[in-house]
Amino acid sequence: MIREKDLMIGDTVLVERAGDVIPYIVKPLAELRTGTETKIEFPEECPVCSSRLFKEEGEAAWRCVNIECPAQVVERMIHYVSKDALDIKGFGEANIKKFYDLGLLKDIPGIYKLDFEAISKLEGFGAKSIEKLKEAIQQSKQQPLHRLIFALGIRFVGETTAKVLAQKVHHLLDLKKFSQEELQTLEDIGPKVAGSIVHFFSSEDNIKMLQELENELGITMTNNSKQMHGGGELDGVTFLLPEHFPHLKEARPKKWQKREEEKY
Ligand SMILES: [Zn+2]
Repeated sequence: MIREKDLMIGDTVLVERAGDVIPYIVKPLAELRTGTETKIEFPEECPVCSSRLFKEEGEAAWRCVNIECPAQVVERMIHYVSKDALDIKGFGEANIKKFYDLGLLKDIPGIYKLDFEAISKLEGFGAKSIEKLKEAIQQSKQQPLHRLIFALGIRFVGETTAKVLAQKVHHLLDLKKFSQEELQTLEDIGPKVAGSIVHFFSSEDNIKMLQELENELGITMTNNSKQMHGGGELDGVTFLLPEHFPHLKEARPKKWQKREEEKY
């Protein structure tokens, strides 16, 4: 599109709302060019680690595939502590970046091995905020398994897939035993997602990291919610809801039909 429309950095462009919503560049206003505009060159190397970029067949995105790439390492940690993942309050993006830049944090296990002595000497880290951070890190060790799976940042594994996977295992490392075909029999998991999960758990480095997290750092990797189920009065009872039988719509009371129509 850039080439087709001859867009340059510094151009004034004509923008239209496509479908009345999304801003869409129609064309550059070439008559307003001053001669200082520059050509847009597509990057061939990662802007952070200078590794050669890679594009998968059929995908639009170019990726840096260097697993040690600092930008990726930092983003992985930011994702790990984020609200929907392990939710380590008081950590956040800014602290991850700060600790990383200062050499106080280099990978996910490092989150549990922080040198609080050194951190206490940094500006803005009083005894109280350090205490809070310590506590939040401690609490994150007991998060439900699906949050940990999501936190690992396995490509294509979002919160929903993480929940599906957590339901299927007693221990996180059980996922290592699943073949791509077996994974594909699970709800919402297609070949792309299954392949990515197999790829993650076949990496020795990843397994080593998980073992360190569990054995040395005390992160819970068993599915506790499974053990909590059962034993109640409703144990073993199956509920059928009208939504499960869309083809029997006519057989339902008028009141229900109306309610469902409103809902959808
Ligand atoms: Zn890179």
